[in-house]
Amino acid sequence: MRKLLIAANWKMYKTPAESTAFLTAFAPLVKHHDKTEIVLCPSMTSLPALVDAARSKSVSIGAQNMHWLNEGAYTGETSPTMLTAIGATHVLIGHSERRQYFNETDTTVNLKLKSALAHSLTPIVCVGEHLNERESNLTANVLKLQVSVALEGIDPAALAPLVIAYEPVWAIGTGRTATPEIAEEAHKIIRTQIAQVAGSSVAAATRILYGGSVKPDNATALCRLDDIDGALVGGASLDPASFAQIIINATH
Ligand code: PEP
Repeated sequence: MRKLLIAANWKMYKTPAESTAFLTAFAPLVKHHDKTEIVLCPSMTSLPALVDAARSKSVSIGAQNMHWLNEGAYTGETSPTMLTAIGATHVLIGHSERRQYFNETDTTVNLKLKSALAHSLTPIVCVGEHLNERESNLTANVLKLQVSVALEGIDPAALAPLVIAYEPVWAIGTGRTATPEIAEEAHKIIRTQIAQVAGSSVAAATRILYGGSVKPDNATALCRLDDIDGALVGGASLDPASFAQIIINATH
């Protein structure tokens, strides 16, 4: 059984005080939802305060990005050892905004995934096609390539913590959600590709989240599908009541 995982990506929103205020309002709303793994990914500056505030709560805290090296002359970067030192447990890797604006590639995703696994950080690896790729019938090719390169050279035995987020780029922040049928088909392609690269038991155990304009009113229809194991939520995760309602509606 794959445990449902609902993660919030707060992007470049919320100060430390705003982040802890969110948790104060949010935690009571989901206190009966211990069957669902809940992860908040704030900005780097909010991580320490949020890790502290989440200690007595069943909410995990993750980063939105990291470098793959432990240290070095890389101005502006944060290393995996810095994340584990403050108690972060999860990390988003290869979000489409990082691919689009910060030159993240499938190769750097692979380096970051190896590093996250080596540091016992739960990696949430984001994949997804652009609109023109979908319209040119290239979705399956894009997803297969992204998954294959991400997992290249990794011992399948190390992949137990792997989480993949399918985030069609055309659905992120646009209000345009993939239909449950489109999402389920893409998730099946991803799971089949994981099986090709890492074997069927890794594929069966890997949680694949859907991300792209998830809201309280579409969370149920998406998360009840066999191959959808949760959601990565951007805009609708910024408000405690809305994010809590997504968790409540997604839980089945
Ligand atoms: C995201 O940024 O990962 C995301 C899915 O954003 P939104 O929910 O706003 O589309």
